[in-house]
Amino acid sequence: MTAIPQIVLNNGQRIPQLGFGVFLIPPAQTEAAVTRALQAGYRHIDTAEMYGNEAEVGQAIGKSGLSRGEVFVTTKLNNGAHRPDDARRAFDSSLKALGTDYVDLFLIHWPLPTRYGGDFVSTWRTLEEFYTEGQARSIGVSNFQPHHLRRIHTEGEITPAVDQIEVNPYLTQDEVRQFCAEHQIAVEAWSPLGRGSVLGDPTIDDIARRYGKTPAQVVLRWHIERGDIIFPKSVTAARIRENAGIFDFELAPEDVEAISALNRNQRTGPDPDTFAG
Ligand code: NAD
Repeated sequence: MTAIPQIVLNNGQRIPQLGFGVFLIPPAQTEAAVTRALQAGYRHIDTAEMYGNEAEVGQAIGKSGLSRGEVFVTTKLNNGAHRPDDARRAFDSSLKALGTDYVDLFLIHWPLPTRYGGDFVSTWRTLEEFYTEGQARSIGVSNFQPHHLRRIHTEGEITPAVDQIEVNPYLTQDEVRQFCAEHQIAVEAWSPLGRGSVLGDPTIDDIARRYGKTPAQVVLRWHIERGDIIFPKSVTAARIRENAGIFDFELAPEDVEAISALNRNQRTGPDPDTFAG
């Protein structure tokens, strides 16, 4: 596999632009799936307390023969733990489950504007402490809309390193991505394949045929060309390798635009403005 490019975050830390996501991989299958991904060359794993498989992610990394510093690990604060004391307990328990004394990136999983009196800023200040104390090398948010980010920007001390949001060709998220670009926040595109929903699209199929690539590779390459960080999920060795085979070709600008033009503002996941966890 050609080397995976790295993105430099706003604090100077580097993150591999392609990682491996483990949402909905049952704990019993996670260690094997992460092992396959590490063997295929992935060096960035995206998990969350909510996924229930942090321990198995940690076991796969521990047994891989790689040093801790060679693998970028992200986990996320669960929705029930936004109060500062709870957040600290949850963070400690994630570190313990992962079997590590730091994470590379720690995120608030959802803003939950209808819970905790709409106060995600106190939660953010707690993450700032994790960062200052050195146990989270970078901190960021997930599913934050521009108006949520604006509050963090004006009321917090540290600008989030990333905003992890749902993005795929049917949900191009121009507004959030624009805000992030203007504020040096890197965008992480979750469910980059739209959980498979975009793979039968005729425009994507046509482009894939022209490049001699699979529809999944073309969609993942579209994200890379746009500068977003991605971590597609699969438990199948062949697909794990396929999804990493995206660094030996480039899409022409008109093909990137043709895929972006498929936007329908169609979410597969919840709306962050109303989601209550
Ligand atoms: P995805 O877009 O990565 O799609 C995964 C599905 O697509 C799999 O079930 C698989 O069946 C299929 N697939 C994968 N590779 C394929 C290939 N090459 N060809 C054909 N089909 C293929 O969706 P996801 O798993 O929901 O998202 C990826 C990661 O994003 C998650 O594992 C998680 O880490 C993250 N995520 C974050 C949030 C959040 O709220 N922050 C929410 C959802 C997902």
